[in-house]
Amino acid sequence: MSEDPAPYRSAIDRVIYLLDRGLAPIQKVRAFTKAGVTLDALGADQVQARAKAGTLTRLDGIGPSVDAVVRGAYGVGSTDYLDELERTTTIELGPGRQLREALRGDCHSHSTWSDGGAELSAMAAAAQAIGHEYLVATDHSARLTVAKGLSVERLIEQLDEIEALNQTLAPFRILSGMEVDILDDGSLDLPDEFLARLDVVVASVHHKIHMPAEQMTRRLVTAVANPNVDILGHCTNQKVLNKRRKPSTFDADYVFAACARFDTAVEINCRPERQDPPDGLIELALEWDCRLSIDSDAHAPGQLEWVGYGCDRAALLGVEPQRVINTRSADELLALCA
Ligand SMILES: [Zn+2]
Ligand SMILES: [Zn+2]
Repeated sequence: MSEDPAPYRSAIDRVIYLLDRGLAPIQKVRAFTKAGVTLDALGADQVQARAKAGTLTRLDGIGPSVDAVVRGAYGVGSTDYLDELERTTTIELGPGRQLREALRGDCHSHSTWSDGGAELSAMAAAAQAIGHEYLVATDHSARLTVAKGLSVERLIEQLDEIEALNQTLAPFRILSGMEVDILDDGSLDLPDEFLARLDVVVASVHHKIHMPAEQMTRRLVTAVANPNVDILGHCTNQKVLNKRRKPSTFDADYVFAACARFDTAVEINCRPERQDPPDGLIELALEWDCRLSIDSDAHAPGQLEWVGYGCDRAALLGVEPQRVINTRSADELLALCA
């Protein structure tokens, strides 16, 4: 049995979770992460003593917000900071409530195996805590070097970790997967023999996003026709917040016809800055009778809750739960993706 974490640790972990849920600037998350490391090094007894004496801010990297959170955790200060964060980052479900309740897992997530901020075990625990029965680990493929994409060797190591974690997490399951890069010509950034070993494969474009429409159409059709590809990730690559980015252009009729024909689900990517595909394309995917997958693309535990956003969008567009592959059980999903 592992011991319960010290009060300061639980409070800091919760703050980080909520900051991520609220899409807070990464510097803010890092400040709390770093402070947590400093406090861990100090030890729980010292942290408690300093919280009570009000001397935490004399430590390097412990500012007023961390001080307030830790003192709150020991009952020697108010818990306003954390309470406020709980309140302001809550994801209120609207029309998508029923769809959200029908979701049983998430098919797109990242961990420290690539560019995620948390270990796979922490991602799995968070997925379980929000009611999922499974989480597909889809770290990036090697081509995406900025995201520490997985080489074949590291992918194999990850498969071992998944197997070990699943021993302790059962009945919860981590399914193996990858967010494999779609190369310029529509081929994929991992040999087919390895893709075939994975439970669920998401294929996404991450470079040459604005190539001519005709080439992009061919690229996406080629990718989704690969029998190992189960989901087409964030198909337009648009960004709608902060650093905005125009969507890719392609003939969506061809691409969605190919998705329907080759049984590749179209992802509704729930990241607030992506919201991809836009409504018009979701409607077109419905016309082509495509399956959908409502995925968080979480890079941190708190971001797993973003599926709520996608459920609201999908419900408004008339998406029924049976069309969404992650309303299936893990075994049903595996059968679909076999
Ligand atoms: Zn991606
Ligand atoms: Zn991703």
